[in-house]
Amino acid sequence: MAEYQRICLVHYHEIGLKGHNRAAFEQRLLKNLEALLAPFPVVTIHRISGRLCVFLKEGTDSAVALEAAAVIAKVPGVARVSCGYKCERDLDQMVEAGIAAMSEAGPAESFKVHARRSHTDFPVGSLEMNRIVGGRISDAFPQVAVKMKDPDVTVGVEVVQNAAYVYARSEPGIGGLPVGSSGRVVSLLSSGIDSPVASWKMARRGAVVIGVHFSGRPQTSDASEWLVDDIARVLEKTGCIARVYVVPFGDCQREIALAAPPSLRVILYRRLMFKVAEELARREKAGALVTGESLGQVASQTLDNIRCTDAAVDLPVFRPLIGTDKLEIIHEAERLGTFEISSQDAPDCCTLFMPRSPETHAKLPDVLAAEEGLPIERWVSELADAAEPHDYACPAFGKRKKDA
Ligand code: ATP
Ligand code: MG
Repeated sequence: MAEYQRICLVHYHEIGLKGHNRAAFEQRLLKNLEALLAPFPVVTIHRISGRLCVFLKEGTDSAVALEAAAVIAKVPGVARVSCGYKCERDLDQMVEAGIAAMSEAGPAESFKVHARRSHTDFPVGSLEMNRIVGGRISDAFPQVAVKMKDPDVTVGVEVVQNAAYVYARSEPGIGGLPVGSSGRVVSLLSSGIDSPVASWKMARRGAVVIGVHFSGRPQTSDASEWLVDDIARVLEKTGCIARVYVVPFGDCQREIALAAPPSLRVILYRRLMFKVAEELARREKAGALVTGESLGQVASQTLDNIRCTDAAVDLPVFRPLIGTDKLEIIHEAERLGTFEISSQDAPDCCTLFMPRSPETHAKLPDVLAAEEGLPIERWVSELADAAEPHDYACPAFGKRKKDA
């Protein structure tokens, strides 16, 4: 068979609905894909009739094309990706490409051909193409039935101005919006299970994530910082995270522990964390904070305590997991690829100077009274200044990853 050029067709639903923003979203998705596919032999990425088409170099083998499709499927903004071939506007070539596409579509008991012409200058109509191409593919796969309704495999044939695209293997994408189409957020990133999932959810809705990790250093080791770096590298693969600030937080916690009533310690730690995150958000021009909290999961996640921590900052605080059960979060972390990293134990500031019985229903006036006399504003600027930035490759952040 002739060698046809490999392509991946990228479909996006939600973006298609976004009226006048559509061009900007498409452009953002295209740029993100270009950067994330850098390791693959991509010639170019073009917009064709409401889709993006990734053209791979002549001679790219099947395994590499399928691997590229698997990478594309995980990129926010991608609703579906189909893997196939570009050929000439010639029925024989379409049949050949269709047979090749069917062969890598996985086991199937039934199929159909769905042909479209975006240029009516091609003399054969779509129904006729379905019949001709479908008939000849059917001859090559006598054991696979032709079925119009819900077939196992649909062979797509799209005839455009000077080429035809033929594909069969297709997988759902992760959905959402392209990273960079919804601004920036600062996400409080522990090495636990929840906050990486929360960060990812915001990125999937188009936000560039900038993480802040509070380390117990110098009162603890830097073990949690390494786990957070591993987590950031997972998020980096789909272009979700631009930077993580590591804040050595142990000494301030120690001072709070010495000065404040034990039951309110955790709230005071958390208010200080939020304020530092807000200061970093101001410096990074981010529009919101994000946490991995889920209602009632631990003492600090009661409505009363959430109110006391939110009152420390002006920025909106988003908690994408607030109504999610732990088991659901674990499943999401497994899917995302952070669960194993997060399951490793590392002391961070959460394990440091914990009171025996933390307050579960703090009252804001008591909290403010406990904070009085503490040099909170000074700590906020000192901690923000001391925050150590670690950069990750994020196509939507407009900078290149520094060499390690
Ligand atoms: P996670 O699994 O995300 O650590 P958790 O269930 O352990 O969450 P907490 O420890 O109460 O819950 O933390 C609640 C949220 O506060 C976290 O999801 C995260 O957003 C933030 N947070 C907690 N510890 C840290 C930390 N050391 N650095 C940055 N953010 C933190
Ligand atoms: Mg935690």
